[in-house]
Amino acid sequence: MIHTDELVERNAGFADGGSFADLRLMPSGSLTVIGCVDPRVDPSHVLGLSLGEAAVIRNVGGRVTPATLRTLAMLSKVVQARTGGPGPTDHHYAVLHHTDCGITDLAAFPELLADYFDVPAEDLDAKAVSDPFAAVRVDVETLRPRLRAGVLVSGLVYDVATGRVEVVVPPARVEA
Ligand SMILES: [Zn+2]
Repeated sequence: MIHTDELVERNAGFADGGSFADLRLMPSGSLTVIGCVDPRVDPSHVLGLSLGEAAVIRNVGGRVTPATLRTLAMLSKVVQARTGGPGPTDHHYAVLHHTDCGITDLAAFPELLADYFDVPAEDLDAKAVSDPFAAVRVDVETLRPRLRAGVLVSGLVYDVATGRVEVVVPPARVEA
């Protein structure tokens, strides 16, 4: 187990090796990633993102749930407060799912999943929980109408065996 003293020590090495004061709250890569909590699929690591480049939202499966949408709505208010406007339209929202995701194990607990997605249990099939390639398409389509016109949205699946991502939903701009 990694204890607090080790975390503090690792952080000291991190803090000594960088400069942070010039980083901005607005992601310098104009990127928001929605990904899974699985320790193998940390979006910053597997996509090679640097500190400050992307906003990352993580939950079980990297799913676009009502909670994800509430988080995005809150972030848009933060952007408004910081910039005085809705934010730049050159922003990219990437949904990142992955193979061997633990959410597939939750198929045995439909009531948990129904609550997670806020849908009736009989509608869970539409969420494609057992197939990350189908699920990422579902989530991009759930997300798209909630985003402002002009931003990009895409869907990726990461293979935990090879370390490679596949672009399942190519980036496309949200239409007005
Ligand atoms: Zn996962």
